Amino acid sequence: MERVMQGRTLLCAQWVIGHSDGRHVVHENGVVAIEGTDVLHVGASFDGPVARRIDYGAAVISPGFIDLDALSDLDTTILGYDNGPAWKKGRVWPESYVKRGPYEMYTSEELAFQKHHAFAHLIRNGITTALPIASLFYRAWGETVAEFDAAAAAAEELGLRVYLGPAYRSGGQVTDEWGNIRAVFDEARGLQGLAEAADFAARIDGIAGGRIRAMFAPDRIETCTETLLRRTSDIADEMGAPVRQHCSQSPVELRLVREQHGCAPIEWLHQIDALHPNWLLPHGTQATETEFDLIAGAGASLVHCPLVSARHGGMLKSFPKARARGITIGLGTDTHPADMILNLQIGMMTARLADGMEAIRSEDMFDAATLGGAAALKRPDLGRLAPGAKADITVTDLSRTLQTPDPVQTLMTSASGRDVRDVFIDGRRVMADGVIPGIDETADAARAQAQFDGLIAKYPGRTVGHPPVSEIFTPSYERAAP
Ligand SMILES: [Zn+2]
Repeated sequence: MERVMQGRTLLCAQWVIGHSDGRHVVHENGVVAIEGTDVLHVGASFDGPVARRIDYGAAVISPGFIDLDALSDLDTTILGYDNGPAWKKGRVWPESYVKRGPYEMYTSEELAFQKHHAFAHLIRNGITTALPIASLFYRAWGETVAEFDAAAAAAEELGLRVYLGPAYRSGGQVTDEWGNIRAVFDEARGLQGLAEAADFAARIDGIAGGRIRAMFAPDRIETCTETLLRRTSDIADEMGAPVRQHCSQSPVELRLVREQHGCAPIEWLHQIDALHPNWLLPHGTQATETEFDLIAGAGASLVHCPLVSARHGGMLKSFPKARARGITIGLGTDTHPADMILNLQIGMMTARLADGMEAIRSEDMFDAATLGGAAALKRPDLGRLAPGAKADITVTDLSRTLQTPDPVQTLMTSASGRDVRDVFIDGRRVMADGVIPGIDETADAARAQAQFDGLIAKYPGRTVGHPPVSEIFTPSYERAAP
């Protein structure tokens, strides 16, 4: 299939979500004209010459989603769905595993494959800009430059817009056999990780015609020292790159940060003067009023990941209140499936559980997945379909769905990521009729499953007490005899 499109392309559909005067606007029976990497025109019609016209019928053409915490591995979080507590189920390293020396549980080929596979999965779900996140539990320590070189190659091949940087950390958590979790630190290893991340950032920032940019990913706040974060902040400021730091997401984190620094996570970031406008903060579910004020004051952004929070019985408290404070909020998928539409839907439900039915409307959540992500990244050329913006476009088919009178409300009530039909990024058609050129979806799914099964088989090695797999992951119903 033709990928780099010569000449103008005109897209038509029952619904087009355009943009004017700083807000999205809905065109019924609208068109989008693409020229090169950019949107040329959005409106009711286009009179200029075009090289091709694609009519999607009952569908919504919208800005592609911006995923600030984009699932980029075979997500081990789903294994904990009915299997807790985390420290008993291989999600906190036992002392015995650390003593023998933590090791990589995937080969470098497997690490490269899962990035490529995950990036294709993001595109299938209409995500056009991604800041990858993966678990460090199955790693020797942090993410590696080799794996991110492979990630850059995958993004280049698939056409995904990405911000890339290997996650690094100066500490980790260790549990004894009774579930007493403590922090362990290795400052030199953290600083080495930052040095390697900075070299990688300088090397890849702006390649692939600007589609690949650098980011910094100091892992989770309870695993980072002051020196590591201050240096990160300085280097990222100088490069104009975003920094993503997980904080305010778990009670164990709150306890460890309080033990280490005597305050709450975002208070500490503020105290050490690390928190700047380029900081992206997943998940904020444990944040206090004071901390929300500090985020707003710093001009930093919250990364809301509704699905992963709700699966664990949590929610951001609350999306409407954080928004009313003027905090920029973007969205992240974070867990499997990387279905941004599902995240929008769960985000609506949890916001209403927190604050009531009237506290939020569909457009508030849709803004977060588009304009909010763009604002967090300081990218006024993303997250909107307007002349001069990047042609990053998602087409969601509504032909088999019961439609409300409004396309955004229909996405919230009746659609799923599997309805995404076509995706354009930087003016390239990277998915057509659900097919990504050069990808054998069935073969890749089988390979991913085999790789995931292999990792599950290794769980006893890093689970406290080293029980067999069948005791770590308990069945729903009793398995019937064959
Ligand atoms: Zn996360």
